[in-house]
Amino acid sequence: MEAFGRRARGRPIAISSLAPHQEYASRGAMSRPVWDPLGQVRALMAIVKPVLLRSLQRSLRSLGGERAPVLAGHKLLYRCNLECKMCPFWRREDEPLLGLADEIRMMEALAKAGVSFLGFEGGEPLLRPDLGAILREAHDRFHTSLVTNGWLLARRLREIAPHLDLLFVSIDGIGERHDRLRGIPRSFERAVDGLRASRSEVPSIISHTVTRENLDHSEKVVELAEQLDVGLTLQIAYDYRTADPMSPDRAALRPVIERLRDLRRSGAPILESVEYFEAILGSWYGERPWRCKPWLTINIDPAGRIVLPCYVLQEYRGSEPVWSVDLRQLWNRYDWSRYEGCNRCALACYLEPSLFRWTDFACLRDRLLDGAIHYAERRPRTSRRGIVSG
Ligand code: SF4
Ligand code: SF4
Repeated sequence: MEAFGRRARGRPIAISSLAPHQEYASRGAMSRPVWDPLGQVRALMAIVKPVLLRSLQRSLRSLGGERAPVLAGHKLLYRCNLECKMCPFWRREDEPLLGLADEIRMMEALAKAGVSFLGFEGGEPLLRPDLGAILREAHDRFHTSLVTNGWLLARRLREIAPHLDLLFVSIDGIGERHDRLRGIPRSFERAVDGLRASRSEVPSIISHTVTRENLDHSEKVVELAEQLDVGLTLQIAYDYRTADPMSPDRAALRPVIERLRDLRRSGAPILESVEYFEAILGSWYGERPWRCKPWLTINIDPAGRIVLPCYVLQEYRGSEPVWSVDLRQLWNRYDWSRYEGCNRCALACYLEPSLFRWTDFACLRDRLLDGAIHYAERRPRTSRRGIVSG
């Protein structure tokens, strides 16, 4: 039986019947993290340096009224091996995908514009055979993250882990509930197996989407995160035109948001800030809208095109290739003011940066410093090309 995490508060969840992932185990155990203070200082600086340098550049530009993106999200493909009800992407045909040279062209354009964090997603990114090479290039320029459904994770972990700062594995319920939402049997088992394999190699996070069909499982997924000793990030389902409507009923959602906020306050491993939950409650249930700043996040579709003004409103359909435009000019000519009062989605990748204030020390400590120190404490010792034995 799984040794449950030391921070578990609730009852153990019945995941003991899951078999260990044979494919992964048969390749031999990877190294465990070792105590390496110098390595941890280096890991901390590797985060802080590019963040601070690019942030400083951005701050100087913003003094002159300039806007620049901080985070970038890039879908590597739309194709997926699962069929989630609320997802429009697996239903689309992919155009020819970018090769490595064009991925690098995209990265150079993003770095020049001031982006510090590059997150890869899909579809299912692990379906791309060249993923390891793409991540290696990205990790030379950005803090990197990847979202996966976990099905292929254990098999490809060794190739991708050295080039990732954060790994997100989607889990939307426990056991059969997750499988029903994902449309494929055993997807829960595969995701949990992937997390068990990944958590000692790269900081690993459960990505949980709250829908109308799993409101009663959100707290259980938080417990699962505690039991697996990983973090958790939340999304609230948004109704895309080309997918099944799955956003939760607002009245039924409210106590769940309040409960998750309280869990976050009491130390549950939820990445979203207390302010994130307060912003949703204030806007959707009160009269206190947050000021959405979609310019802080840039999204690039699988063909390298920029999605404007945001992921949600365009359903990830891009316009111009990112390398064909002057991003600084585009960002500062675009009429963002129409979207400041939008508040239609609560996607953390837009809402959290919108709430961030460099002048607020509590905010800085909560969102950046604590996360960076936690990361440095947990980060396994890695080399640029592989995991170093302890
Ligand atoms: S795993 Fe992700 S990309 Fe695949 S169908 Fe589900 S939500 Fe869409
Ligand atoms: S709140 Fe509106 S403008 Fe902001 S990211 Fe969501 S959909 Fe886009």
